[in-house]
Amino acid sequence: MTMKFALVEGIRQEAMPGIRGTCPGCGSATLAKCGLKRLHHWAHVSTAVCDRWWEPETEWHRAWKNLFPTEWQEIHHRAVDGEVHIADVKTASGIVIEFQHSAITPQERTSREAFYDPMMWVVDGMRLKRDLSSFRQEITTCSPSAETKTRAWLLWDRATAIIERWRGGSRPLFLDFGDAEFPLPWLPAAGVLWLLNYLPRERVIVTPVHRQSVVDHLLFGAPIQGFAKPTPVPPPRSTLPGFQAHFMRTRSRRPRF
Ligand SMILES: [Zn+2]
Repeated sequence: MTMKFALVEGIRQEAMPGIRGTCPGCGSATLAKCGLKRLHHWAHVSTAVCDRWWEPETEWHRAWKNLFPTEWQEIHHRAVDGEVHIADVKTASGIVIEFQHSAITPQERTSREAFYDPMMWVVDGMRLKRDLSSFRQEITTCSPSAETKTRAWLLWDRATAIIERWRGGSRPLFLDFGDAEFPLPWLPAAGVLWLLNYLPRERVIVTPVHRQSVVDHLLFGAPIQGFAKPTPVPPPRSTLPGFQAHFMRTRSRRPRF
């Protein structure tokens, strides 16, 4: 089990060569691992697993966690039965964000959703190649929903493998396909997450949103932003005669005091 933070003389610290610490969760000894191949991290000296939900940290995890203040990262919780769990990020307002790369069973998903409340998921959509291709296929062959405010799709909750694997959950879930391209002219080439809202009757609403607005939402409470639907084309504006148009331009350029 690897972590970004351990306690060194009681203070949370990142791994540095040659130092020892203790696990903030279970209190057992940890060693700083600072090789060249993997991210610098802490590992338990014994093979103890203090949080059975914890997964090996990837670059993807680390990049996500680092968007948030260090004091929000890797927050330990102890359940009533003494079991320790480490939340990837817990915001100042108490929302736990779990960054999920590995596969998890529906049972584990459900127990984590019950343990952390409120919480949301960010799921690495790039773990399996076929997830991206089938998701992209579904999005590009189905028409967007007419009923939603921003651009979104109303799909069957078994529409694609990754949508089906996460069905039955009760928390907001964002799929992260990195900067994978989608052949939609209005969608930017980067900085998009896909919000899945599972509905009763085996349906799901799939909404692309600006990734930065999700981060800003968690950091400052800013609204999460989707993509506006096209507005009906307005009638063409009457063009101003040449000299009047020139006058308007110079007037707008004049400095204001
Ligand atoms: Zn531990």
